Amino acid sequence: MASYQKLIEPKEGSKIKVLGPNKFEVPSDPIIPFIEGDGIGADLTRAMHIVINAAVKKAYDGKKKINWLEIYAGEKAVEKYGEGQYLPKDTITALKEYSIGIKGPITTPVGGGFRSLNVTIRQVLDLFACVRPVKYYEGIPSPVKHPEKVNMIIFRENTEDIYAGIEFRSGSEEAKKLRDFLISMDVNIKEKIREDAGIGIKPMGPFASKRLIKKAIQYAIDNGKTSVTLVHKGNIMKFTEGAFRDWGYELAKTEFGDKLIPEAEVTGSTDKIIIKDRIADSMFQQGLLRPDEYSVLALPNLTGDFMSDALAAQVGGLGMAPGANMSDTMAIFEATHGSAPKYTNQDKANPGSLILSAVMMLIHMGWKEAADLVEKGIKETIKQKYVTYDLARQMTGVTEVKCSQFAERIAENM
Ligand code: NAD
Repeated sequence: MASYQKLIEPKEGSKIKVLGPNKFEVPSDPIIPFIEGDGIGADLTRAMHIVINAAVKKAYDGKKKINWLEIYAGEKAVEKYGEGQYLPKDTITALKEYSIGIKGPITTPVGGGFRSLNVTIRQVLDLFACVRPVKYYEGIPSPVKHPEKVNMIIFRENTEDIYAGIEFRSGSEEAKKLRDFLISMDVNIKEKIREDAGIGIKPMGPFASKRLIKKAIQYAIDNGKTSVTLVHKGNIMKFTEGAFRDWGYELAKTEFGDKLIPEAEVTGSTDKIIIKDRIADSMFQQGLLRPDEYSVLALPNLTGDFMSDALAAQVGGLGMAPGANMSDTMAIFEATHGSAPKYTNQDKANPGSLILSAVMMLIHMGWKEAADLVEKGIKETIKQKYVTYDLARQMTGVTEVKCSQFAERIAENM
């Protein structure tokens, strides 16, 4: 097998230094590892590099430069490292070492024993927050009347909830044993869990909930946001979802003191950040009916998953929806869609999601000037109706362009 040194040794640049939780020192020549990804990943990554390199060069007059370092996961990792090596140790080591990374979509290998590589990366690195800004770019086709009213940022808990993967199949010995055990604690459970039921477990605790909510609140403070909403289904699931809400209010009070004010205590206008909560089903309605009343959302894993895709659809779908998975010391930025294998190497797919994920990365690094330039380029390019096939088929009077042409035009429009 090839060695770490041989395959992913950087040629130039410096490391981003982690000084403590959420404290970084970013040099002017940072090394940033990237995973190209499978399917459309190679096209998107090339496009993302074109745009980001141009923005950084322009914003800092050539005084700053990202040194991209290719690391491997998915099919390309197997090519480089050998059979079965979908996620080589080198890749995890490099991500830990450089503390930031960006990745294209990875195909989940078909066949026995594979979990999604994306989930594995999140778990191994304990990237506990999935962060997704949802914002509208003028001209993008949307199914709602006022997509411009959506401007939210979602913080979804990544490690707990029904997604923990603790499930027992209907009819299995384990499901039967678990049911018997539960009935031994409370006989009423006999009626609640039928004999033929599969059983899933939903663990949620203060440690994971609070660190996620803390990240959301800190983001609101750092970025001058007006509110943080805790979204939950606590009316039904009191000790998990309801507790998530309670832990959130508790944390807001103990850790952030008078920076926040609970919605119930607001009497007039306030310069504090309002902390409120909504039951998940109501939040889905609010997202459609009064999106402009919401800013930062903090959600448990399952609801967070649903909510991010629903809101993304309102602003034009997954092609333009960025994301990141983060801890307090690491962040991996990634396209939110999959590898769309049928468009592999056709230079056809929309690189918007990966480019906007890179914009999040620039903001995370404190390189806001470059991030602003990319956003300007994107807005202008869409206004010029110079778009990839997925947007072109929903718009009129457009020029349908390739993935690389879209990227080059964004760079020109900065
Ligand atoms: P997908 O998102 O890859 O594709 C669904 C359809 O959406 C595509 O056929 C295409 O029409 C469209 N599409 C997606 N991205 C696009 C883009 N950038 N531009 C234009 N059109 C785009 O979903 P899928 O087909 O369910 O999954 C394919 C593979 O990707 C699977 O192996 C899946 O496990 C994996 N996946 C990876 C990630 C990730 O890496 N984060 C996320 C989801 C799915």
